[in-house]
Amino acid sequence: MQAMIFDGPGKPLRPATATSPSPHDDQILIRIAACAVCRTDLHIVDGDLRDPKLPLVPGHEIVGRVAAKGARVDRFAIGDRVGVPWLGWTDGVCAFCRSGRENLCERARFTGYQIDGGFAEFAVADHRFCFALPDGYGDVEAAPLMCAGLIGYRALRAAGDGRRLGLYGFGAAAHIIAQVAVWQGREVYAFTRPGDEASQRFARTLGATWAGGSDAAPPHLLDAALIFAPVGALVPAALRAVDKGGTVVCAGIHMSDIPAFPYALLWGERIVRSVANLTRRDAEEFLALAPLVPVKTSVRPYPLARANEALDDLRAGRLEGAAVLVPAV
Ligand SMILES: [Zn+2]
Ligand SMILES: [Zn+2]
Repeated sequence: MQAMIFDGPGKPLRPATATSPSPHDDQILIRIAACAVCRTDLHIVDGDLRDPKLPLVPGHEIVGRVAAKGARVDRFAIGDRVGVPWLGWTDGVCAFCRSGRENLCERARFTGYQIDGGFAEFAVADHRFCFALPDGYGDVEAAPLMCAGLIGYRALRAAGDGRRLGLYGFGAAAHIIAQVAVWQGREVYAFTRPGDEASQRFARTLGATWAGGSDAAPPHLLDAALIFAPVGALVPAALRAVDKGGTVVCAGIHMSDIPAFPYALLWGERIVRSVANLTRRDAEEFLALAPLVPVKTSVRPYPLARANEALDDLRAGRLEGAAVLVPAV
């Protein structure tokens, strides 16, 4: 099969012909139709995340069809369409797993990080961590639901029920979560890189009440803010924008250092928290919700062999929505 291989930080992904993996007893072999590109893939390629298997096939927003299955697989049949998320395996026995927090599992393994992922024509995945996808989404359109959607949704839940919601960084996750938030009856305030008028226009077309630069003050204090951009300086900026009792959720897996800020910004029972990974329950809830909204994803397809170009476009902020890799047919 064709695959894009990560050999270590600072090197572009290398196109290679590799042997297709064989599924173990709990795994399915998936013929990949699409795999979206996530900011986490950039953090791996750039060396911000220190623990990848090497060599690695990145990619954790996989959509494909079951091509073969192991002896214990009972959730899917050959030919079924499945989605594979970042959470690839948990032990099921640690204190976190046993308290409904498998996203924090001590021995969790992640797709496209410790398990070969979807920047390839085939992948194997543990069937217990794969999901049926809602009909009505094409393969390319469904791919960004698998991380931008799922982890974005977990971040939205962590924000509480407040009506005025700020979104910092209007990329793949925010463009999905803005639609969910508007559907829930919230007001969305979109913060982009200062001067990025194209992203601000894009946010307004998705129902944002207000859009502006991350250095601007919103017209009202907010009830909560989600930070999707990996920029620590946005934490004090978002605290400044939320009202007393408001929550600031850091939704990315990596962020630059958070600068010191006056305690007065946190005072008034404001909360700063992170969101880590996802649980299978998050996935089931979000995949049921997406077609009700209905969430529409904005996608830019790239041939698999042009994965490096997709990563560069994401790094430079040249995307509206999500980049999705598509193997040659
Ligand atoms: Zn991701
Ligand atoms: Zn566990």
